[in-house]
Amino acid sequence: MIEEFINAIEAIANNSFPLNKSFELLNAWDWTKIVFSNFSAMMAMGKYNQISIKESAQKFQSDVLRSAFENFWASEMSMSFFLMQLAYAYKGMAGYPLGGSGRFVEKLERRYRDIDGKIEFGRKVTKILIENNRVTGLEVNHNEKISADYVVLAADGYTVLFELLGEKYVDNKTLTAYKTLKTFPSLIYFSAGIAKEFKEVEPSIVGVNIPLLQPLKVGNYTHERITFQIYNFDPILAPKGKTLITAMVDTDYAFWQKLYEQGQEAYRNERQQISSALIDAIDAHYGGVKNQIDFTDTATPVTYKNWTGNHNGSYEGWLPTPDAAKIKLPSHLIGLGNFYMCGHWVTPGGGMPPAAYSGRDAVQLICRDEKIHFKTSEL
Ligand SMILES: Cc1cc2nc3c(=O)[nH]c(=O)nc-3n(C[C@H](O)[C@H](O)[C@H](O)COP(=O)(O)OP(=O)(O)OC[C@H]3O[C@@H](n4cnc5c(N)ncnc54)[C@H](O)[C@@H]3O)c2cc1C
Repeated sequence: MIEEFINAIEAIANNSFPLNKSFELLNAWDWTKIVFSNFSAMMAMGKYNQISIKESAQKFQSDVLRSAFENFWASEMSMSFFLMQLAYAYKGMAGYPLGGSGRFVEKLERRYRDIDGKIEFGRKVTKILIENNRVTGLEVNHNEKISADYVVLAADGYTVLFELLGEKYVDNKTLTAYKTLKTFPSLIYFSAGIAKEFKEVEPSIVGVNIPLLQPLKVGNYTHERITFQIYNFDPILAPKGKTLITAMVDTDYAFWQKLYEQGQEAYRNERQQISSALIDAIDAHYGGVKNQIDFTDTATPVTYKNWTGNHNGSYEGWLPTPDAAKIKLPSHLIGLGNFYMCGHWVTPGGGMPPAAYSGRDAVQLICRDEKIHFKTSEL
C-alpha cells in the first residue's frame, strides 16, 4: 500500500497539466495532449479522488499508520488531495514564505499597484447592479454606486449567490452543491509571543503535534492532540530571543455565534479558557513557558465571519471530499453577463494558489470576451 501511494505521488508530481490556460478554454487538441502526456497522473487522480483519507486509513495493518492517517487534517477529504500536497512537497513546490502571510500579501498588493491597479479598503459591496441581465457595477456601503465593465467577485459564495443575487441565477446543480457539500470547519486561531528561542525544537513548517494533558472541548469539537507551529525558523515574525507560536484548532461556527450573542463576558471567558489550556499544553511539553508570555491572541469563528464574510467562518471554502471532486462549481452564471466569481468558493480544496489561479482564469475569460490577447509576466 505504501508503494502504491509512492507511485501515485510520483505520477501526480510528474504531471504536466497546462496551467497557463483557463479550464474552459481547453480545446479537443489540448485534451488529447493532456490525456497522452498525463495518463498515469490521471489514473492516480481518478482512483484516489473517490476515496477519502479515512477510508484509505482502514487499509493499513499498522495501528500507528491507521491512526496517523485518520487524524490527519480533515480526514473526510479525498485521498487525491492529500497525495497532491505530498507531490508538491516532493517537487519542492510547497513551502512557507518567511514573514508569513502578511509579507506574502504585501507582495501581491505591491505588484497590483505597480501595474496601476487600485485598491480601496473599508468598502463593503452591498448590491450587484444589474441591467438587462448584465452586471453594470456595484453598490458599496449602501450609499455609493460604482459602474464597471466587468465585475469579478472574490467574496463568500453564499453571500454572492443567495444574498447579493437573491438566488435568481443559481442553477439546480449549483443549488445542490451549496446544499450538500461540506465546508472546511472554522477555527480557533491561537497565537502567542513567547520570550524564549525554542532552539531545542527541530524546525518544522508542518508543526509539532502535542498530546494534551486532558481532552480540550472547543465548541462541539473535542481535541486530544493539538498541532502547534513553532516559528523558531522565521526571524521576521518575532524580535531576537523570542518566538511566535500558533495553533489552528478546528471548531464549529454555530457554537461561537450563539455564545457571542449571549454577550461579551461568556464569549471572552470561553476564549480565555481555551487560550490558557493551550499555554498549559506548551508549558507541560517544553517547560518554562508560562512566565515568558509577551502576548496571546485568540481569534474565533465569529472573528473570521466578521472580517472575511466566509460562510460559517470556514477558513478554506469547500472541503475536497470525494463528492466535491465530482462537481464543477460555476465561476460565471448562466443568464448573467459581465460577471465572474473567483476564490476558494469556486475551487473546492481552496487555498491561496487555487484562489489566485481562479482570479487569473476570470481575467483570461474576460480577455476572450473582449478579444484581447491574454499575456502575463513572471516576477
Ligand atoms: C489560519 C488560516 C491558515 C491558512 N493556511 C493556508 C495555507 O497554509 N495554504 C493555503 O494555500 N491556504 C491557507 N489558508 C486558506 C486561504 O487563506 C484561503 O483559501 C484563501 O485566502 C481564499 O482566498 P479568497 O480570495 O477566495 O477569499 P478570502 O481570503 O476570504 O478573501 C475574501 C475577501 O473578500 C472580502 N469581502 C467579503 N465580502 C465582501 C463584500 N461584501 N464587499 C467587499 N469585500 C468583501 C473579505 O473581507 C476578504 O478580504 C488558510 C486560511 C486560514 C484562515
